[in-house]
Amino acid sequence: MKAAVLTGAREPLVIEDITIDEPLAGEALVKVIAAGVCHSDLHFIEGTYPARYPHILGHEVAGVVERVGAGVTNVAPGDRVILGFVQPCGHCSFCDSGRPSLCQTPSATRPADQPARTRADGSAVTAMTNVGGFAEYSITPAVGLVKVPDDISLDIAALVGCSVMTGYGAVVNTAGVEPGTTVAVIGAGGVGLNIIQAARLAGAEKIIAVDMVEHKLATAKQFGATDLVNAGEGDPVREVQQLTGGGADYAFEAIGLKATSEQAYNMVGRGGTAVIVGMVPPMDQISISGMIWMQEKTLKGSFYGSARFHTDMPRILNLYRQKKLDLDSLVTRRYELGQINEAFDALRNGEVSRSVLTIGQE
Ligand SMILES: [Zn+2]
Ligand SMILES: [Zn+2]
Repeated sequence: MKAAVLTGAREPLVIEDITIDEPLAGEALVKVIAAGVCHSDLHFIEGTYPARYPHILGHEVAGVVERVGAGVTNVAPGDRVILGFVQPCGHCSFCDSGRPSLCQTPSATRPADQPARTRADGSAVTAMTNVGGFAEYSITPAVGLVKVPDDISLDIAALVGCSVMTGYGAVVNTAGVEPGTTVAVIGAGGVGLNIIQAARLAGAEKIIAVDMVEHKLATAKQFGATDLVNAGEGDPVREVQQLTGGGADYAFEAIGLKATSEQAYNMVGRGGTAVIVGMVPPMDQISISGMIWMQEKTLKGSFYGSARFHTDMPRILNLYRQKKLDLDSLVTRRYELGQINEAFDALRNGEVSRSVLTIGQE
């Protein structure tokens, strides 16, 4: 099969012929139909986060189950699925307490001693989050698969695999935004737009989008932002404080930088909650005021929207069907697998909300 392979940090992706195994017990072989091009992939390309090279990126993916290994009962060949990029075990303390996105049971994903399931010239090629979706096929633990109804296209479903779940979940699960509250969102890209529309759905009274790119702010308005702040023209923290009369109830950081994380914290008022959704580089230290105790402010992280995959993803698809979440307008461009480097250039240059790679046909 063809796959886009990352051979090292800051290298362009290379389309290569890759050997993929048959699914073992608990695994499924999925024909990839569509894969979103996410900022998280870009972090690995740019070396902000480490990868084991050669590496197949792509974690926002939907496809059709081709074959399953022994013992797989939750999906069958022909099922249309979203590939969750966490594959929860279902029985550890995180899974058991309703936080499956934090599951780290190795057997739930793939034992470290098990060989890579994809190879080039006999050598291992690793797959991002056991998905590796920038390829014609993915071999993944079946527990990570969520079925998609026939009336929903797989290029839209793919987005639910990362950006929609991450943004919606940050609002609904991690923060628990209540009706009538004020919300600031830093970064109006693929994840930020979903934070904005989920905040609208949750009944936030004021939703302030903060970005430095005018056309992204215009898109943010279309998704439900009530106020727009261009962070390139003045101090966004002061502007949010002024717009909210002292600070927002909630602020979300959807870029992945130390500076904007600190801004998010400073944008919330007394009793407020700042949620870091972006992939801040692992060695960066976020500084906040020692006055946190007196102001009763909360700073928390949100990974994968604190997802409960088999509850949240079908819910999101229903909300899309009811036109309460707009997923169609998220897709700015479509590319083929061979154009993947162009798709990343467009993401780097801030030209797109989301690009989707159309890889296979159903
Ligand atoms: Zn992503
Ligand atoms: Zn678990």
